[in-house]
Amino acid sequence: MIQNEYLQRVYTQVVTRDPDQREFHQAVLEVLESLEPIVVQHPEYESRGILETFVEPERMICFRVPWADDHGQIHVNRGYRIQFSSTIGPYKGGLRFHPTVNLSILKFLAFEQILKNSLTGLPMGGAKGGSDFDPKGKSDGEVMRFCQSFMTELNRHIGQFVDVPAGDIGVGAREIGYLFGQYRRVRGSFDAGVLTGKGLAFGGSLARTEATGYGLCYLTQEMLKVLRSDSFEGKTVVISGSGNVAIFATEKAAQLGAKVVALSDSDGYIHDPDGIKLDVVKDIKLNRRGRIKEYAAEVPGSTYTEGFRGIWTIPCDIALPCATQNEIDGETAKIIVKNGTMAVAEGANMPCRPEAIHEFQAAGLLFAPAKAANAGGVATSGLEMSQNSIRYTWSFEEVDSKLQTIMVNIFHNIYDASCAYNMPGDLAAGANLAGFQKVADVMLAQGVI
Ligand code: NDP
Repeated sequence: MIQNEYLQRVYTQVVTRDPDQREFHQAVLEVLESLEPIVVQHPEYESRGILETFVEPERMICFRVPWADDHGQIHVNRGYRIQFSSTIGPYKGGLRFHPTVNLSILKFLAFEQILKNSLTGLPMGGAKGGSDFDPKGKSDGEVMRFCQSFMTELNRHIGQFVDVPAGDIGVGAREIGYLFGQYRRVRGSFDAGVLTGKGLAFGGSLARTEATGYGLCYLTQEMLKVLRSDSFEGKTVVISGSGNVAIFATEKAAQLGAKVVALSDSDGYIHDPDGIKLDVVKDIKLNRRGRIKEYAAEVPGSTYTEGFRGIWTIPCDIALPCATQNEIDGETAKIIVKNGTMAVAEGANMPCRPEAIHEFQAAGLLFAPAKAANAGGVATSGLEMSQNSIRYTWSFEEVDSKLQTIMVNIFHNIYDASCAYNMPGDLAAGANLAGFQKVADVMLAQGVI
């Protein structure tokens, strides 16, 4: 509930302007609800129109993407790039290829990205883009032709000092390769810093692939250490999804001494009480682009259950939702609490609905919000941009060590903010306050118009 009159007015304007954009409303409301103490302390935010400006994207680009399938049939998808804020650096944020992609989802993701990028401490603004194209079931040639058509239009809107896209759901190393190839062809220039998540042989960074999942575990480990004098050691972990974030969160949690017992995809989930065999998962998902149910057919003692929500009935000490937005509702959260879970950290963007976060906080669980917990991916993209600029490659260990430092710093930054505003341990509020304050102060310093 927003109490403050100024914040309520800003929120009402957001809803009135775009009544159908539910995911965007949800993301804005979650942030505005936390900002009351800072807005009260800074009356100049209202007199200078900071919040009104902050919730409206600088630019929204929408374009058609025609492409030919393997039979020569033409299909037309819709492409987007939301350039939300360039206050503290070039626009930065991933591209999502998924049939559910629309303006509301991309605006929510780009909005969250502003605060997330601010928390990394690196100079990056907020953006997000993508298409309602579904790479699932498409041939390599079809994905390539789609990516080429997408970049034929997008290229004029991006650049290493303008806007630097990366991957997200449905956009991995293969898609980034095709997108980069087309950018290079149409521009006649090898601008390595225009995209991140590139292959290692053409400007990619070691540890970028692992960064979001690893970073999630580094932040969670610090949260457990500082707030519970505990660690991953000996804990049972449930992770939803089985894509990039989920796979490397599984890897790092296991390295830190935990046992990950479940993973999912949009069809269902696997449960392996002996601990997930990650080499089998990687072979299925990364080499064969298969479905998670194939795991149960290959690993004795494991089971597969249809329906992805059921994964949260499996008892665990630590829950890491790493699939997609709004996966955990209030009822599911009650089950997680009842099962004795001690911590929830969001690997996906906004996987927990507001009522779920409320259940966790009311029950005293540790809760790490996505904009802090999954910031390791974009932080390492920032490190990839740095390497591209200095034309040098850091070792895996160097990048991984910088990532660890960044995630530990993010935890302390958001925890300190929660304490400074008399909400000790409310990391969701802390992340919003710390992320916002930096951007708002720069907006004031630069003049918003
Ligand atoms: P991937 O495409 O690699 O994997 C997505 C996974 O989530 C797949 O297992 C997919 O299953 C599952 N999934 C997608 N939609 C649904 C759904 N509606 N219900 C259940 N499962 C679903 O994406 P990423 O791992 O890269 O991204 C996962 C999340 O992490 C997203 O929220 C993304 O925004 C966020 N994120 C990613 C970063 C990155 O560096 N990649 C950085 C920061 C955040 P299926 O194959 O069946 O679709």
